[in-house]
Amino acid sequence: MTCKHATLLLSESEERQLSSRERWGLRFHVVICAACRRFKKQLQFLRLLLSQASPKMLAAVYASDASLSEPRRQEIKTLLRRAAEGQ
Ligand SMILES: [Zn+2]
Repeated sequence: MTCKHATLLLSESEERQLSSRERWGLRFHVVICAACRRFKKQLQFLRLLLSQASPKMLAAVYASDASLSEPRRQEIKTLLRRAAEGQ
């Protein structure tokens, strides 16, 4: 499994049930890959934030972090939009 595939599955796991094959592939990849482990942690952290903070506050956090890579920005944007729509 590539990192691209792994991060895609990590994101998708929020929206759909992964197949057992995907889950195992992902689990294995995360064990051997530090970058995807970090990504997974960030996703979990974001989810926690989203459950507790207002989208406005999250937008401020997002705007202040210039070190984020473009895919991460897109990811956060998507999460923020979803949070905003949910309110
Ligand atoms: Zn990886």
